[in-house]
Amino acid sequence: MMHTTHIAFSILITMLLYIAMPNLKSYSSPVLAYILAGFSATLPDIDHPKSFISRSYFLPISKIVEATTRHRGWTHSIFGTLIFTLIFLTILYYFSLSTFYAFFFFVGYISHLISDSLNPSGVNWLWPKKKRYGIGVIRTGSKAEVVFQVVVASLVGAILAHDLLNGYGRVL
Ligand SMILES: [Zn+2]
Repeated sequence: MMHTTHIAFSILITMLLYIAMPNLKSYSSPVLAYILAGFSATLPDIDHPKSFISRSYFLPISKIVEATTRHRGWTHSIFGTLIFTLIFLTILYYFSLSTFYAFFFFVGYISHLISDSLNPSGVNWLWPKKKRYGIGVIRTGSKAEVVFQVVVASLVGAILAHDLLNGYGRVL
């Protein structure tokens, strides 16, 4: 999937979580949560040198990760999700920041795996087991992905507008 699809999908999931669990707002800023989830949603593709995340500031890390795996290997698994979340949690802890934000990092990361599972190539969820899981309905860069992206972005816009117009204050 394209990085824009991953970012939009992670924001949608995070938004739905804020609606489902209103208490989240007392622990976190939704805007920060969206930014964070959007970032971690691009992170699994650090195993690919030409991905958005690798081409930005993370090329050196990408080179190291790439040496350890093929594309959609361990970075696209529950193992990879936990490793990266743990690293992020340590960074938060080290800088005395609210460790609760690791939750949104986790959500963004796992949302990447969920949306990649819509690809025919599937996702290696249970790495080191080799089996890939996917339902193969959307090819990366295809018209179907563009449609998916537009639907997700429209849902984000609709939920936001609905929330703001009604003054619910749940998602911002
Ligand atoms: Zn991916």
